[in-house]
Amino acid sequence: MIGHNMPVMEAASRETDQSAAEPLVRFERVTKRYGDLEVIKGIDLTLQPGEKLALIGPSGSGKTTLGRMLMTLEEPTSGRIWLEGESLWDMTDKKGRNVRANVKHLQRMRGSIGMVFQHFNLFPHLTALDNVMLAPRAVMGMKKDASRERAVSMLRKVGLANKLDAYPARLSGGQKQRVAIARALVMQPKIMVFDEVTSALDPELVGEVLEVIKEIAADGEMAMMLITHEMDFARDVADRVAFGDGGRIVEEGPPAAIFENPRSERLQMFLKRFG
Ligand code: ADP
Repeated sequence: MIGHNMPVMEAASRETDQSAAEPLVRFERVTKRYGDLEVIKGIDLTLQPGEKLALIGPSGSGKTTLGRMLMTLEEPTSGRIWLEGESLWDMTDKKGRNVRANVKHLQRMRGSIGMVFQHFNLFPHLTALDNVMLAPRAVMGMKKDASRERAVSMLRKVGLANKLDAYPARLSGGQKQRVAIARALVMQPKIMVFDEVTSALDPELVGEVLEVIKEIAADGEMAMMLITHEMDFARDVADRVAFGDGGRIVEEGPPAAIFENPRSERLQMFLKRFG
């Protein structure tokens, strides 16, 4: 893992890393402040390779912010986030050395992280197939035929083999979201962050998207961070559930423990409302 040109700081940090098995992702005392408002108040959280973690909690508890920091879309105020033992964010370094300081490093690390959002952000002027083919060609420099083959197989996986040439305007919300999932999958990330991916959908379209995510989860190797209000889905898909409230992880554990035997009053109250 340690490349010969890896910066000294990162090599040194790795040596002080006590954990035996390297987690895929590690949040270490991460905080995030927007002006006077501290929305993440010191979070430690790990994800193992291939692990499916559901992040649940009330609106405004900081779930999306946590996901966006992992996706490198927001900068933590303090703490560190590690990806495979490398520093994705290191806000402890006085020189401000973080992922933005090295664009190549950022691009490489981002390649390991797939992202799917509430709003699909498809390119309206591109067909489903071209939307999915774009990143392999532009970012990975894949040849047209190879990227087409891979994109078709991803669209097949999400049940859209018959919509390759459809433009987003001709697709339902659920279909658009499935294209967005295929577009993230095609890069073969090590982890996918699904941020409230069904919240903007009409209720009758939610099921098809959750079903696709379940199938991908069952494929196995890719880790997932599932930020969701769908408790049944979290229970079905997740290996582990973390309940966040007020910028902290209040409770985490296997789905059975979280949903059937919640310990904290806050989680009990939350589940009464949403569970
Ligand atoms: P959740 O995903 O759990 O609903 P969020 O992470 O979206 O929570 O938001 C956590 C808190 O941070 C909320 O109070 C929200 O208003 C605030 N927040 C999120 N993004 C910003 C921002 N860009 N500027 C200021 N406040 C923000």
